[in-house]
Amino acid sequence: MEDEKKILTKTVHGGEDEQHCGSSLVPAIAQTSTFTFSSLKEFSDFKNGTHDSFEYGRYGNPTQRVAEKKISDLENAEDSLLFSSGMAAICSIFLAILRSNQHIVITRDCYRHTAQFCDTLKKFGVETSVVPPNDLEALSSAIRPETRLIFTESPTNPHLHVVDIERLVEIGKKSNVKLVIDSTLATPINQKPLDFGVDLVVHSATKYLAGHNDVLAGVVSGNRTMIDGLRDFHHMLGATLDPNSAYLLNRGLKTLGLRLKQQNKSGLDIARFLEEDENVSRVFYPGLNSHPSHEIARKQMLGFGGLISFKICGGFEKARKFIDALRIPKIAASLGGVESLVSHPASMVYYDISDEELEQHGISKDLIRLAVGVEDCSDLIKDIKRALRH
Ligand SMILES: *Cc1c(COP(=O)(O)O)cnc(C)c1O
Repeated sequence: MEDEKKILTKTVHGGEDEQHCGSSLVPAIAQTSTFTFSSLKEFSDFKNGTHDSFEYGRYGNPTQRVAEKKISDLENAEDSLLFSSGMAAICSIFLAILRSNQHIVITRDCYRHTAQFCDTLKKFGVETSVVPPNDLEALSSAIRPETRLIFTESPTNPHLHVVDIERLVEIGKKSNVKLVIDSTLATPINQKPLDFGVDLVVHSATKYLAGHNDVLAGVVSGNRTMIDGLRDFHHMLGATLDPNSAYLLNRGLKTLGLRLKQQNKSGLDIARFLEEDENVSRVFYPGLNSHPSHEIARKQMLGFGGLISFKICGGFEKARKFIDALRIPKIAASLGGVESLVSHPASMVYYDISDEELEQHGISKDLIRLAVGVEDCSDLIKDIKRALRH
């Protein structure tokens, strides 16, 4: 693709070359479940691809299509497909690509429901190997003749490991295995995995892409053949994004670049502040020299995002007091929105598992996850400082 436009221009105008309905500046919400044709000839032209239109709401909608084109523009993708949530997108990738007796490799530090879905696939005869996120040797040796898919996040959640995508692509190509990256935490502002040769990129668009904690959405981007393969599945499953959510996503995307600028800067400033504080024993942020992925992150990312995990001195009791004492970040799951959120992985995402299993996941009870929003950074630091002394 030879688009010379810079990213901030793409977030505003990408995917919006055609005039919108009624010459509206802003893409309208096409609130309809079905679309009409003026003649049967027009319908067959539509099916042959010579007449551009839409057929039925479950297959797609003009509002959804604008957001898909914008995301393709941002990811340097041939095409993208929106789903009703990030999980709908992720599960559809697995269901569309895998057959029984095939095998997947995933990384341990991954979204819990992604790992749980891979577990569920056992009943359809699909096996999964789970490898450490920062160990490409382990990943390479987990590949079997029947391996069809490597699925990883980068950065990972909550420890922010960054996977060396260039090396991962080499491994995938050598073994003829499809490579999928969940790039939710990076966004196309900070990292473009398709430029490295990854087969598919998936986002929970609920997070940074929509960016306002008010909509659920998921998106997959890649080459046309792979997206078309998913599209058939998407139409059957019906996990379609509704026009109102597509509108909110499109609106959110317009400020993605601006929001990320602020979140990248605040993320780094807060991570540096935490690293210096005597009440904090360890900070996980790929922008810090001390993070094991720092060198790779510098090589393949333009910014390090707004998610920070850290361990507080004094164990669970101190973590609880700190979290309860914060005033600006609210206690909630999720990340990537304009509001800062704080969570305690051991008692929130992993609330139902034993201490032993927690340890296997590398989640300790002194670990806190902070998703930085777009508030004034000095206000956030003041609030964190106060809560740490609480
Ligand atoms: C939130 C999240 C998901 C799931 O997305 P939903 O939109 O909540 O379904 C998947 N991967 C990552 C990295 C996430 O943060």
